[in-house]
Amino acid sequence: MYIAIEGIDTAGKSTQIALLSRNYPEAVITKEPGATAIGKEIRELVLSAKAKSKKAEFLLFLADRAEHIKEVIEPNLKKRMIISDRSVVSGVAYALIQEEISETAIVHLNRFATNGIYPQKVFLLRLSKEELEFRLSQKELDGIELRGSDYLLKIQGAIIKAAELLDIELIEIDATQSIETINKEILSTLNS
Ligand code: C5P
Repeated sequence: MYIAIEGIDTAGKSTQIALLSRNYPEAVITKEPGATAIGKEIRELVLSAKAKSKKAEFLLFLADRAEHIKEVIEPNLKKRMIISDRSVVSGVAYALIQEEISETAIVHLNRFATNGIYPQKVFLLRLSKEELEFRLSQKELDGIELRGSDYLLKIQGAIIKAAELLDIELIEIDATQSIETINKEILSTLNS
């Protein structure tokens, strides 16, 4: 099975992925962007230099996704459990909020890049505005700068819309719960 964990910055994706890697020691643990050799360079490029063209940025993320599918997902799809930190759902969500590319083109190009290989189940670690703002203030105290809560909440909404457009099952999990409770909820969904 191919599953993905989605959520905005501070939602706790990496923590849950780390726990799942212990729950499923045989699983392939991967991520987007930046899981492959080419993907690492694309990730570095996109996150360090801000492209003037949002289309250029979108196409670079798509190139990362195409390589990720070809190198990591396709070869393991039938053999191993695959757990990915982000997926096509993030790709579509970030593109939706740019409002520069039509929904149809975003979905079509993502289908093209992935050969239509999407995660079977996607978990969204969902944060309330209050909890997000609290977490952002804590990060600021640690000297880490993140995008504002309005922008991040827009992404969170776009993740839900992206899953609908892609016809992917989205399982929403309340990310304000304890780390252990979230892990148990994910496991019980996977085992049901
Ligand atoms: O998940 P991770 O922290 O590795 O993602 C790095 C950054 O890339 C995130 O802060 C996110 O805002 C951005 N990103 C993006 N478009 C995507 C996926 C991630 O802008 N399709």
